Amino acid sequence: MKEDTKIIHGGGKNALKHGVVNTPVYRASTVVFADTDQMQTASEGAINHQKKVHFYGRKGSPTSWTLEEALTDLEQGYDTVLAPSGLGAVTTALLCFLKAGDHLLMVDSVYEPTRRFCDKTLARFGVETTYYDPHVGAGVADLIQPNTTVVFTESPGSHTFEMQDLPAIATAAHGKDENIVVMIDNTWASPLFHKPLTLGADISIQACTKYIVGHSDVMLGSITSVEKHYPTLYSGRQEIGVAASPDDVYLATRGLRTLGVRLRQHEINTMKIAKWFQTRPEVDCVLYPALPEDPGHELWKRDFTGASGLFGVIFKKTSREAAYAMLNGMKYFPLGFSWGGYESLMCASFPKKGRTATEWTYAEPGIRLHIGLEDPDDLIADLEEGLARFNAVLNG
Ligand SMILES: *Cc1c(COP(=O)(O)O)cnc(C)c1O
Repeated sequence: MKEDTKIIHGGGKNALKHGVVNTPVYRASTVVFADTDQMQTASEGAINHQKKVHFYGRKGSPTSWTLEEALTDLEQGYDTVLAPSGLGAVTTALLCFLKAGDHLLMVDSVYEPTRRFCDKTLARFGVETTYYDPHVGAGVADLIQPNTTVVFTESPGSHTFEMQDLPAIATAAHGKDENIVVMIDNTWASPLFHKPLTLGADISIQACTKYIVGHSDVMLGSITSVEKHYPTLYSGRQEIGVAASPDDVYLATRGLRTLGVRLRQHEINTMKIAKWFQTRPEVDCVLYPALPEDPGHELWKRDFTGASGLFGVIFKKTSREAAYAMLNGMKYFPLGFSWGGYESLMCASFPKKGRTATEWTYAEPGIRLHIGLEDPDDLIADLEEGLARFNAVLNG
């Protein structure tokens, strides 16, 4: 099956659709059984990780199996579990594989709330985190300690857009110890444009909140695993008690069905606007791996099949006041931290303070943009006026 067919038809196996096109919302806590035999069979199935047994609301339903199977197909993994947010998916994955005394290698460009979880909650549970340079590549081998159990990657970083050499990192980590779990936050590319489990990663995480949902109205996360680590992930997630709402899962599945057309249009619009920024005299560089001038372009071309709508702009000369003058007064770019919906968004970007292993040497603040599905010419006209406000404050 080709990718677009998978997006439309994925997740039909356990659907129980009663003839309608979309798997209905199964709202359930209690699932009742006809007799003790059926109850016994269902509970044994649920305990033995045969999870597609309707047993109890928290364990999932045909609604969640539909999305799990569809995402598994796209990620080319063994199976998927859902979490009530993208951050919940990141923390659940980490909690399932780390224990007191373990060492975690975390990329320095990671999504800020993931960093906070490591520095606060994981530290409290006796897990030590070392941050590493996103460009480490095979050099990650030198950072691995006897107690290193997880290597976490995010490529590209969602504020600074460094590309990581995932195959080199996974090969080096597994070469040191085959049981090290290599994880990736794959939200930027979505499973349509990047298949990390085919490049050596063991676990691929999505903030489905972004492109899978696609309409800025649901929080959801997913964790897709290779077969070897799935039993640990599945039982750990059950022990923690993480479960996603069937209404949210339904909306995410509905969003997924249009992922292909949305993402390709995001890519076309974003490329046009990113190239326009490159022509502007105020701009030092545009952080978008799909551009040939981007330092991560070769890795992107090798490992990805497309680029999404999120990128950064670095100015030659900048100030907080000038950037804020641009941000205040945009017609089509409301201020927002999230992204992945159909609409454009913008925020100022201050990466310096979040770094501990590497230094962010570009001028700060830059801006981060999410390019939506509006006509890009309207967006460019809006940005042009924004840069006029930027210049007026900077030079005035
Ligand atoms: C948004 C985001 C998350 C967290 O997702 P939520 O659903 O907002 O919790 C995790 N990783 C990345 C890269 C993100 O952009």
